[in-house]
Amino acid sequence: MSRIVFFCIPAFGHTNPTLGVVRELVGRGHEVIYYSYRMLQEPIEAAGARFIACDDFDAEQHLTPEEGTRVGSDMALSARVLVDTTLALDESVCREMENLRPDCIVADSMAVWGKAVAGKLGIPFVCSTTTFAFNKYSARIMKQGFRELFGMLLSMGKVNRQVKRLQEHGYPVKNFLEIISNDENTHTIVYTSPQFQPCAETFPDKYAFVGPSVRPVQEPLEKTGQKLVYISMGTVNNNMAPLYRSCLKAVADTHWQVILSVGSLVNREELGPIPANVSVYERVDQIGVLEKADAFLTHCGMNSASEALYFGVPLLMLPKTTEQTGVAARTEQLGAGVLLKKTTPEAIRAGLETLLSDPTYRENAGKIAQGFRSCTGAKGAADKIESVCAK
Ligand code: UDP
Repeated sequence: MSRIVFFCIPAFGHTNPTLGVVRELVGRGHEVIYYSYRMLQEPIEAAGARFIACDDFDAEQHLTPEEGTRVGSDMALSARVLVDTTLALDESVCREMENLRPDCIVADSMAVWGKAVAGKLGIPFVCSTTTFAFNKYSARIMKQGFRELFGMLLSMGKVNRQVKRLQEHGYPVKNFLEIISNDENTHTIVYTSPQFQPCAETFPDKYAFVGPSVRPVQEPLEKTGQKLVYISMGTVNNNMAPLYRSCLKAVADTHWQVILSVGSLVNREELGPIPANVSVYERVDQIGVLEKADAFLTHCGMNSASEALYFGVPLLMLPKTTEQTGVAARTEQLGAGVLLKKTTPEAIRAGLETLLSDPTYRENAGKIAQGFRSCTGAKGAADKIESVCAK
């Protein structure tokens, strides 16, 4: 039996794919300890891990809800949050790891404190990547828009200040990219298929492309219309009342059954009248909906896109971040979705009609689904972790 410690950031999208792996490891008799955040305690414990909360170490960050939504897209803010968290956790986590002596640390690619402590104490390490793996080849498809690039250049001074803070605390890092990017020498689990990952053949054997980990349906959905359209902008950046209003207008006089998941920040009054064929929810069992859906308007978060493609559902894509733009570009390249260029009701209606009337999109999504379903999944990820423990 091995003792395995997981670290993750406070995001469902980065945590959900690891839960099947935790379940698999616990099932094989290993002890799993999971450092995360209270918002995720319940599913982590349900997967069989011992949960340890990191929330209190972050107390000094005082992020406003508005700032919270910018983490991930605002480079300077993201760097500050990552470095604050690493330094806040540094001493206590190092002490705890010295006592626990885990056989392996598994950390999300953004939970840089996990990688840092493993490096400091010489504990075997596995990186868990819930987005596409990133190298100079795959970067081409994830190319940044001008606005984002400009924002990044403007924030570079601030980012470098954060890197300096890490260096002052004895971390041997050269630049921010080095902290957040994958490298050739690290054992890495990637939750996508070799087919969907751009340039998969350019990554070394240390990379295991295990496929998306799609949780079982919890609340099966009753399909009442001939076509089911699902709309969600994910869980992080979903405060988008104007877009939802546009969607409601786009689908109002159709025979489609429409499910709209808006998150907890949107006020129902902001949406205006809800057409009879639309059901609006704060949150749905997305797997239960996608299992039956015919089209999905999505921000192209890696999880949402993968879950939809797993069921062969074509995508109408409205990406916001570089990562989402990369997922959208790859999906478009494989012919399983179309980009939404404008958010007018007319453009949304036209995009959905294209997906629903041209069977090629569904066929191409089905090919990606086949690739996903032939991956090794949570078992493959657990094999990888066991092999690192054994070394
Ligand atoms: N999700 C859900 N119900 C909802 C909206 C989202 O269960 O109503 C889940 C979805 O299945 C996915 C995750 O939340 O696993 C969203 O992750 P993603 O990477 O797509 O986007 P993020 O929320 O990180 O932007």
